[in-house]
Amino acid sequence: VLAAWAGLGYSRRARSLLAAARAAAGQGGLPSTEPELRALPGIGPYTAGAIASIAFGQREAAIDGNVERVMSRLRGSSDDPTRPAIRRAIRADILDLQPAERPGDFNQALMELGATVCSPRAPACGRCPWRDPCRARALSIQEDLPNKPKKKPPVPESGVAGILRVDGRVLLARREAGARLGGLWEPPRAPIQGDDDPMVALERAFIEQIGVPVRVGARLGKVVHIFTHRKLTLEVFEVEPRGACEPAPARGYDGAMLVTPGRAPAVSKLARKVLALAKIAP
Ligand code: SF4
Repeated sequence: VLAAWAGLGYSRRARSLLAAARAAAGQGGLPSTEPELRALPGIGPYTAGAIASIAFGQREAAIDGNVERVMSRLRGSSDDPTRPAIRRAIRADILDLQPAERPGDFNQALMELGATVCSPRAPACGRCPWRDPCRARALSIQEDLPNKPKKKPPVPESGVAGILRVDGRVLLARREAGARLGGLWEPPRAPIQGDDDPMVALERAFIEQIGVPVRVGARLGKVVHIFTHRKLTLEVFEVEPRGACEPAPARGYDGAMLVTPGRAPAVSKLARKVLALAKIAP
């Protein structure tokens, strides 16, 4: 599953998808109600509501960002829609509006209205089917809603990665299960803290985490990757083994091997960027 998902990011979703499929198979199939769906790995309120209503015709709300915006505006409410009490009120309003027939179509139409008409900036109120009942429009406050707390900027982090080539192959290591990007392969990397010298940190990482002493060579450049809450800047260097390359992965990695370009196993999106900098096809 990770190999098929490789490069799409959010690898946790691939793991959850597999776990949910296994759990559903163990129960004799995918359940049809929102509470049962929510009990499956990786399925939150939005996905549970979407599956229950769209796949099984259940009267349930499916509140994504678009729906949250439309409903905040329709209600003319400047309350933070991410607060549980406001969320419940939005859900209750949706269920009031939702017809008994084809609730899934109603939910999809609501999402589509948010995606195409009730856009974050400059909503096209003139061609909106809800322009009459919309309270935000009546009060001319539609562009001020929804009133959500500002997202925190991603936390900056620094790191260093090394490209080690032997006879046309490149060394990739597998992040250990449970770690961020666990199960995915990448050129070895290490975090840099404070005034750490990146080249020293990289040499140390190759010894301690890969079991291969290296000499750090040319700097290839920099890769910036945004995770959900973090912004990682990686310095990338060529490295050369100081002897035979016999990897013994440890501390964060549970596999390491020399890979022929174009035949890499599941690599992360971050790893693809690092390899691209070294002009190596994953
Ligand atoms: S009238 Fe305007 S603000 Fe209100 S729901 Fe329609 S597009 Fe959104």
